[in-house]
Amino acid sequence: MGLDLSIPFVPAISGASIRSKSCRDVAYMGLEAVRELRYPTLMISVFDFVNPKGVFLKEGIECINNGISAAECLALPRDLTLYLDSGGYELTKFGIKTWYDALDVYAIQQVLRGEVWTILDYPARGKRRSEIARAIASNIRFAEQVCALHYGPARLMAVAHGSNSEELYSVSSKLLSLSEISIIAVSDKELPLAQTAKKSLIQRLAGALADQRKDVGLHILGIGSPVNWTDYVHWGVTTFDSTNWLVKLLNPTTLNWTASSKGWGPNCECTFCREFSRPLRAARPHTLDSIRHNLALIKDVL
Ligand SMILES: [Zn+2]
Repeated sequence: MGLDLSIPFVPAISGASIRSKSCRDVAYMGLEAVRELRYPTLMISVFDFVNPKGVFLKEGIECINNGISAAECLALPRDLTLYLDSGGYELTKFGIKTWYDALDVYAIQQVLRGEVWTILDYPARGKRRSEIARAIASNIRFAEQVCALHYGPARLMAVAHGSNSEELYSVSSKLLSLSEISIIAVSDKELPLAQTAKKSLIQRLAGALADQRKDVGLHILGIGSPVNWTDYVHWGVTTFDSTNWLVKLLNPTTLNWTASSKGWGPNCECTFCREFSRPLRAARPHTLDSIRHNLALIKDVL
């Protein structure tokens, strides 16, 4: 089963990133836009299917009780590449201290299916050195446990954490030595801030993946600003995700996210805005139109 890598941007839906009261509605608008525009990829989270705070809890219960896949339950196109994130991001965002068990997350991924499964990890950002070392050790143990159990066609994605380039590189190399892992993910926030250091680390990581003859490569988690997107691809990043497409507007001129509450005039030339007489001229565009515009513009420019 091949992964669709035609567009490196993977739109992610996470209830933890939608601050609107109608969180579930916004999540569903995202699904609608993905279906309508035949977007090739989507990332959703195990958390949203199993936690009482999750936007797809109803669907999660249906999947678990009836053995149906998340893609089927959400009426996603058959050829879509579905990424199932582990839920660690949401646990952190909601400040939930009781961490999931990596093998429980893996068991849910087996039920929900999809094409790429992120192995659960402890975050490292903003922690003391000793805590980071502990998180890294736990994450490597999680990856080893999941790899020992793994069967079936889904690809495993492991997240490498580290407080500097050397640490990120060495943790990535350890994860890469596990043959079941075919995607290494790094959080955008843990990459060096300086452009040259960032470029050098990404190129080293991409090179290490190529040396190991992994068929799929390097994923960057939670890319905030789209202005780096094309650089990342040139440096060897294969895919990256963001949740901003659901809650912000991608400005067609600056290619940066702006607040979703205001439009920017009649000038967007993306496939969606052209076809539908530029619906974002309104001062307060409809959320679904903003989402459709974001995805269409991303498809057009990447
Ligand atoms: Zn547009």
